[in-house]
Amino acid sequence: MIYADNAATTKMSQTAIDTMVSVMQEDWGNPSSLYTRGQSAKEVLEDARAKVAGVIGAEPREILFTSGGSEADNQAILSAAALGRKAGKMHIISSAFEHHAVLHTLEKLRKEGFDITLMDVHENGLVVPSEVEAAIRDDTCLVTIMYANNEIGTIQPIREIGAICRRKNVLFHTDAVQAITHVPVNVVDDNIDMLSSSAHKFHGPKGVGFLYARKGIRLSNLIEGGAQESGKRAGTENVPGIAAMAAALVEAYAAMPANAAHLTKMRDRLIEGLAQIPHSALNGDAVQRLPGNVNFCFEGIEGESLLLLLDDKGIQASSGSACTSGSLDPSHVLLAIGRVHDVAHGSLRLSLGEDITEEQVDEMIRSVKEVVEYLRGFSPIWRDLMSGKKEFIL
Ligand SMILES: *Cc1c(COP(=O)(O)O)cnc(C)c1O
Repeated sequence: MIYADNAATTKMSQTAIDTMVSVMQEDWGNPSSLYTRGQSAKEVLEDARAKVAGVIGAEPREILFTSGGSEADNQAILSAAALGRKAGKMHIISSAFEHHAVLHTLEKLRKEGFDITLMDVHENGLVVPSEVEAAIRDDTCLVTIMYANNEIGTIQPIREIGAICRRKNVLFHTDAVQAITHVPVNVVDDNIDMLSSSAHKFHGPKGVGFLYARKGIRLSNLIEGGAQESGKRAGTENVPGIAAMAAALVEAYAAMPANAAHLTKMRDRLIEGLAQIPHSALNGDAVQRLPGNVNFCFEGIEGESLLLLLDDKGIQASSGSACTSGSLDPSHVLLAIGRVHDVAHGSLRLSLGEDITEEQVDEMIRSVKEVVEYLRGFSPIWRDLMSGKKEFIL
């Protein structure tokens, strides 16, 4: 069995599981309670906050725990929008291939009167900083561009975009859910005002994440109630999940240089092997991409059938984002980089785990080749392409 869908979620690390169980057994008090049991839970919570802050170069008070990446994205964007509205600035800049947690929040704001500009991500899946600079207006209140794309893995020039936003005095948020623990993210060096992250993408538990917001940025709260999280996120904190997230983050960060080197090697071997399949193409820039991300289009086939047949062969992959599977629309990310509908339908994302071996990579190459060939054997589109009725695009 090869699990190659780490961009959808990761297996919890033993350290994260042990931490979670230990907190559930020992430090199960309510961190808002004043007696010893509550205060020991509070200590666990604040220790986790310090660890998370330390990893990304923030101060502990700049870290707000959330239920995951989606909530952090919503809170960051809605907070910036509220500040913008107050200042009479109702223009937001983002990109065409953001996660739906960002795009759907922006859609909501558009209906409320905000003007949204989505930057072109070009054929290589990269936003161009000078184009962001040119798009900034006097009434721009926020630029939100993801650190790394969840489908095609391209890593954006975040530091340059951040520097432009600083110079122009515009808030800059980045969805760093896919980047954290795969590339060195530092909120100070990268000129980031707000950043979203999610534990289950780096071997922590599901349902927990964090939002970094630079001190002085006034956040709106999505959940009203008690005064937890400096009054910006009501509800008793998920202490076991938060502690496990911090443990997973520290562990993955320490292992990042070695893991990234290994993953990059495995990724490039896999890309080289899959590129030998006729009428195939890698999606997204080959260099500016996450160490473990491989995403291909194969002409003449349906991604869904490819996935089901790969599953039969013990390979678990995805055709794009887990959030859009089940819908028959091609991925908005692949359309954004200019793939036409027919081609975008035949996509495959393999997101590798750190323990992937060379043998497993070779097995994946063999299996994908077999399955693509088999599917093309009875695909009407492939028949039309071969007979010249239709022209090859790839
Ligand atoms: C997974 C993911 C999210 C959502 O995170 P959840 O914790 O599942 O809510 C947001 N953005 C990106 C880029 C992601 O990959």
